[in-house]
Amino acid sequence: MHIIVLVKQVPNTSDVRIDPKTGNLVREGVESVMNPEDRHALEAALQVKDKIDASVTAISMGPPQAIEVLCEALGMGADRGVLVSDRAFAGADTWATSTTLGLAIRRLGEFDLIVAGRQAIDGDTAQIGPQVAEFLGIPQLTYVTWVDVEPQKVTVERRVETGCERVEAPTPVLLTCLSAINRPRYPTVAGLLNSTAPRAPIEVWNAADIGAKAYDVGLLGSLTQVMETFTPKEARNTEYLEGTPSAIASALIEAFRGKNIRLGD
Ligand SMILES: Cc1cc2nc3c(=O)[nH]c(=O)nc-3n(C[C@H](O)[C@H](O)[C@H](O)COP(=O)(O)OP(=O)(O)OC[C@H]3O[C@@H](n4cnc5c(N)ncnc54)[C@H](O)[C@@H]3O)c2cc1C
Repeated sequence: MHIIVLVKQVPNTSDVRIDPKTGNLVREGVESVMNPEDRHALEAALQVKDKIDASVTAISMGPPQAIEVLCEALGMGADRGVLVSDRAFAGADTWATSTTLGLAIRRLGEFDLIVAGRQAIDGDTAQIGPQVAEFLGIPQLTYVTWVDVEPQKVTVERRVETGCERVEAPTPVLLTCLSAINRPRYPTVAGLLNSTAPRAPIEVWNAADIGAKAYDVGLLGSLTQVMETFTPKEARNTEYLEGTPSAIASALIEAFRGKNIRLGD
């Protein structure tokens, strides 16, 4: 069984700051890490590998330093890492990112399962997993909190607004998982040492390697354009209520009454 895991390098903060002049993410002074839910995605793949004969490939699209998250993935137990990196990928929106990852996955050849995090803590769109599945024409199971993998069939529990549902799908299939799915293992020292050795099984593929045309990827391949980025100004006339919870509740009710907002009995 071949399992592909999508891992993204993100700033180690959910407090993402945007440079107001360039509109780009401010990365200076912020440590980069593997996107938290991608650790859980990788752990889910490794748990399958612990049980049955499986190989795990971690793949990331990003700048050259994103190789760090692939080293970490190898340290945790992935067999192979692929970094998809090229200047042509710069400025990609989610559509162009999914196209790039989809083309790279096609180059990887046969696979049974793709596992991704639900959402990256910087971009926050939760679009990549579903879009990659669409690109590849395979089923997708999102918001997964439990998974059981058998040959040619995957059963999952997924969170829905009203609770949980248990569904199954034939392989190949793509899962996006929530952190509730498992507790990720730490990379082993031996794994980390091997993953940083010159012969570490990490390949770097550029646009030509995955057969990407210039207008499919990066800024040119993006269907959306950022017109402006800004931080909303703090609302004026903000009043902060302090005190015990019941004092705050009473003050809030009075404030609503003062604004003629009708409250229930
Ligand atoms: C209009 C627009 C313009 C943008 N312009 C730029 C820009 O100019 N420069 C820039 O750097 N970014 C830009 N971005 C952000 C970039 O498109 C997203 O970071 C990227 O597409 C991933 O989306 P996300 O972070 O929301 O991932 P999500 O969809 O939230 O991620 C879900 C999961 O998909 C997988 N995944 C996501 N991204 C990757 C990846 N790169 N490699 C491997 N796996 C991945 C992970 O498993 C992750 O947990 C732009 C976004 C938009 C919407």
